Amino acid sequence: MARSATTPELEKEKRRKWILLITLVLSLAVMLTSLFFLAKIRGWRVRKNDQSLLAIVNENTPVPADSGQTLAFIDDAYMIDARCAAELEQMLLDCRLAGNDPQILAAYRSESEQRELLNAMTEDLTAAGYEFETAREMASEQIEQPGHSEHQLGLAVDIGGKESGDGTNRWLDEHAWEYGFIRRYPDGKEDITGKACAQDHFRYVGLNAAKQIHELNITLEEYVSMFYGN
Ligand SMILES: [Zn+2]
Repeated sequence: MARSATTPELEKEKRRKWILLITLVLSLAVMLTSLFFLAKIRGWRVRKNDQSLLAIVNENTPVPADSGQTLAFIDDAYMIDARCAAELEQMLLDCRLAGNDPQILAAYRSESEQRELLNAMTEDLTAAGYEFETAREMASEQIEQPGHSEHQLGLAVDIGGKESGDGTNRWLDEHAWEYGFIRRYPDGKEDITGKACAQDHFRYVGLNAAKQIHELNITLEEYVSMFYGN
């Protein structure tokens, strides 16, 4: 009698152990699969990017010494890195076809042109009555130091609109990523980019990175640290 009373208990106990084991194995399998896919997605995202297009240039980080880019003319008056010339041209064309009037305001600048720009604004301010030091400081708030402007990379372009300025802006907001460009200094991200929101400044990062940055709604700094950081 005693034996038949304990058998169902033993069976139950055995079943519980099996269920626990299966649950453990299944959880482990799910975890490993997720890890595998996460690693794969990360690797895939990284592999599809040309890292030289993701160079970060800001107040703290100067233009890399080896950025010997090949430049191409755009609109006869401006130069841009040849790797994004066709995309920029197509973007401007499509923006115009959508009824806007985009105008290039700035593109590639050499280090000496950057210096001239800063000096010119400093001179304007001293002519307006400011002390040199104050004038230099004020100018530096708006114009990057030589060696610290993205325009020196040849991958940045300032685009404004003439009559339908808002339309150009809206269109670029929606479509720039389709051509590999991102709005580099978005509103509300000043603490990350170190720059005030700039509506007209676009940066080429390549089609793959631009799509992801657009989808994730992040800055270039965040993207690089997410996928290339330690
Ligand atoms: Zn700019």
